[in-house]
Amino acid sequence: MMSHSKAALTDEELKARYAWSLDRKIEESCDRIVDWHSRFGGRVSVSFSGGLDSTVLLDLVRNKCGYPEVPAVFSNTGLEFPENVHFVRSIPNVHEIRPRRGFRQVIETFGYPVVSKRVSQYVGEVQRAQGETATKRLRLTGMTSRGTKSRLGEIPDVWKPLIDCGFRVSDQCCQVLKKEPLARAMKIFGPPFVGTRAEESMQRELSYKQHGCNAYHMQSPRSTPIAFWTGQDIREYIKQESLPYSPLYDMGYDRSGCMWCLLGAHHADDNRFELLAKTHPRVYAFCRDRLGLFDVLDVVERLWGERYRRRTKKAAPTVSPSPNPALAGFCILKGG
Ligand code: SF4
Repeated sequence: MMSHSKAALTDEELKARYAWSLDRKIEESCDRIVDWHSRFGGRVSVSFSGGLDSTVLLDLVRNKCGYPEVPAVFSNTGLEFPENVHFVRSIPNVHEIRPRRGFRQVIETFGYPVVSKRVSQYVGEVQRAQGETATKRLRLTGMTSRGTKSRLGEIPDVWKPLIDCGFRVSDQCCQVLKKEPLARAMKIFGPPFVGTRAEESMQRELSYKQHGCNAYHMQSPRSTPIAFWTGQDIREYIKQESLPYSPLYDMGYDRSGCMWCLLGAHHADDNRFELLAKTHPRVYAFCRDRLGLFDVLDVVERLWGERYRRRTKKAAPTVSPSPNPALAGFCILKGG
């Protein structure tokens, strides 16, 4: 059987893995966990968010593989649902770590995370560019310094007006609130098991295909032993093992992450803020009145809606690429 730590898994091989039975997936995941644990002499940790995936991962490590002493690390961004924090704190041997700055400081210092991490990164790079740099040309035209075209390096046309929409955009939010604290924790608790799955995003799929489950040689080594599981497998495992899970999933949420993240919030079928208004009205009001999130989301949704109107060839008002007077200044934080 091909080792998961070997590179370059094909689409067909990944498809075949998705189709494995749950028992086989458990067995394979445990093999990867045992390899990782042994490679680092047991000085490893579990990155635990309180979500379903990391709940399953923690159970695999501690109970199925028999490593009950492995510590879990919970990165409390300060944007966590209180119900989720309560659940996480009910699990033994979980270490809570905090970022050095809060969300408000992040958007004041760097800008808002919008659409996706990639779009936020690219738009922010162009906004900050001093003069005509190679990076700016790449992000605006897709032309690399070698003169070749890179579609993935270019900001999609629909999002280019964000550059001049009057607020700063940045991908630093996850870096400051999640990645930096987890990197600090890794130094203390050892290389982590992480509950990410390939089917969650193109980037995660590419990473899994390239590195397999156990990415020993990455700059920050990490193991993703359930990378080839599906969402259905996760739910089935929780049911089968009668695992306790975060109460958020019984409140209508399908994720346990940050309460008010804007990434992906522009999609027509995304109801995170409607739900937030019902379950946590004071937090919703804070997002609206103090963080300016809905002004930003409004701009993003207008651009996204524009794309659909163009696609369906219906007449559509043009979203002006010039600064929006309602969003004067680079940051639209309200109040103090
Ligand atoms: S998930 Fe969203 S709100 Fe949370 S840290 Fe990342 S970008 Fe920020």
